[in-house]
Amino acid sequence: MFIVFEGIDGSGKTTQAKLLTKKLNAFYTCEPTEGQIGRLIREILKGKKKCEKETLALLFAADRVEHVKLIEEKLKESHVVCDRYLYSSIAYQTSQGVDEDFILQINRFAKKPDIVVLLTVDVEEGMKRLGKEKEIFEKEEFLKKVQNKYLKLAKKEGFIVIDTTNKSINESHEEILKIIKSKLWG
Ligand code: C5P
Ligand code: MG
Repeated sequence: MFIVFEGIDGSGKTTQAKLLTKKLNAFYTCEPTEGQIGRLIREILKGKKKCEKETLALLFAADRVEHVKLIEEKLKESHVVCDRYLYSSIAYQTSQGVDEDFILQINRFAKKPDIVVLLTVDVEEGMKRLGKEKEIFEKEEFLKKVQNKYLKLAKKEGFIVIDTTNKSINESHEEILKIIKSKLWG
């Protein structure tokens, strides 16, 4: 199974994706990737380099082309848990003002996940969970916009939505595990 975790910064994606990976003995991977394009994206996100918003959208799509190859390879051997994917592009880049159809077009190759888990959080609490060194998009108003877009996508695409506000890491993990187990083993 190809399982994707989505959500705004501070929602707990990385922590939960890694806990589930361990439980399922799966392969963990994330976007932006550790590859050449992913590293360039991270420099832009830290504000060290600048580019047009459409260029950034293309970079995320290019990073994903490479990533999908790896995911397909790994899926032959095990479950794959992916920390951010196509829906991050839709939610973050449209919130930046990039045209949604453009994003969908440049991501046409993206393999459809079997399960998408959307983690939500009260934006103020999410911001508190983040460290002091914020990336360019880690601002309260912007993240509210991103979370609203994620929720719209969740309705349309049937994501599993879990609110992590006021929940311990373990409580959220147990909730996720229960749902994933029912999907895997019915
Ligand atoms: O999950 P992580 O914090 O490592 O993601 C890095 C940053 O990349 C996020 O804070 C988000 O602002 C940005 N991002 C984005 N578009 C994507 C994926 C991530 O703007 N498609
Ligand atoms: Mg972040």
